Amino acid sequence: MDFLRPDSLAEALALKAQRPDAVPIAGGTDVMVELNFDHRRPAALLDLTRVEDLRTWDVDGDSVRVGAGVPYTRIIEELGDRLPGLAMASRTVGSPQIRNRGTVGGNLGAASPAGDAHPVLLVADAVVEVASTRGTRRIAATDFYLGVKHNALEPDELITSVRLPAARAPQQFAKVGTRNAMVIAVCSFAVALHPEQRRVGAAVGSAAPTPLRASAAEEFLSGELTATGQWESPRPLLDSVKRRFGELVAEAASPIDDVRGSAAYRKHALSVLARRTLGWAWQDYPGKVA
Ligand SMILES: Cc1cc2nc3c(=O)[nH]c(=O)nc-3n(C[C@H](O)[C@H](O)[C@H](O)COP(=O)(O)OP(=O)(O)OC[C@H]3O[C@@H](n4cnc5c(N)ncnc54)[C@H](O)[C@@H]3O)c2cc1C
Repeated sequence: MDFLRPDSLAEALALKAQRPDAVPIAGGTDVMVELNFDHRRPAALLDLTRVEDLRTWDVDGDSVRVGAGVPYTRIIEELGDRLPGLAMASRTVGSPQIRNRGTVGGNLGAASPAGDAHPVLLVADAVVEVASTRGTRRIAATDFYLGVKHNALEPDELITSVRLPAARAPQQFAKVGTRNAMVIAVCSFAVALHPEQRRVGAAVGSAAPTPLRASAAEEFLSGELTATGQWESPRPLLDSVKRRFGELVAEAASPIDDVRGSAAYRKHALSVLARRTLGWAWQDYPGKVA
């Protein structure tokens, strides 16, 4: 197996153009598991850890560009105020060791429906930036996930960053696992309030072939908050509204029965997660709008 170690993004893209069969490796927390279990034996690995451009984040106007190789630990420590939803999801990933190595770029590269970053990227209107020697493309997170472990990347492309608007109102993420840490989500859910657009984002993970937005739930809640004037004058949410939101989130999912949980359990758990996280976000709303 060839081991390719570029020192710059330009070199990495040139190598990927020459060797589209080379498997990128960032933190290696997915790739090394696959190699160890002999699930894949690539002809070449493209080590991205020396590419400094991938390991930085910066603020660009109202949005934050997070390099694909920024590990979860740094997102938690350095971006919790600007990207609270992504930081919350990052806190639930694996263990400290996995969070030190694992990256959002790797989560996107793996495109597992259970990846914890995905629901937050969907509700926060994230855009995935990808590059090749042919140029760069920006792909809305909603268009990035194409199927189980299948994303919109071309063979010669690398993920360079993910761009998210800095949060101006509360965001929440929660997942259900078989225990508190080191678990793949049985199901997960993220919610984001976008008061400037009178809009709510809601997305589910680990409950369909891809992570997905719960559009009917988003429209129901956005409409309800707008019709009752609650973006300007928030009041405690009616239980009936939270319950309906939860039902619509569950309806958006198409989970399977597997070792981690039944489809029926996942749907039920999603409706509970949706009600709860909405309650937390709404509780924080009046004081936290920028
Ligand atoms: C013990 C354990 C616990 C875990 N717990 C969780 C969890 O709780 N939640 C969760 O979501 N995940 C979990 N994971 C999975 C893994 O940690 C995450 O998916 C992580 O985000 C992968 O990041 P990485 O940098 O290590 O990716 P890598 O393993 O380096 O790469 C993953 C995939 O992405 C591709 N890739 C990486 N970077 C790029 C790039 N820049 N451009 C194009 N393709 C790229 C690789 O080729 C590969 O296909 C766990 C893994 C382990 C081993």
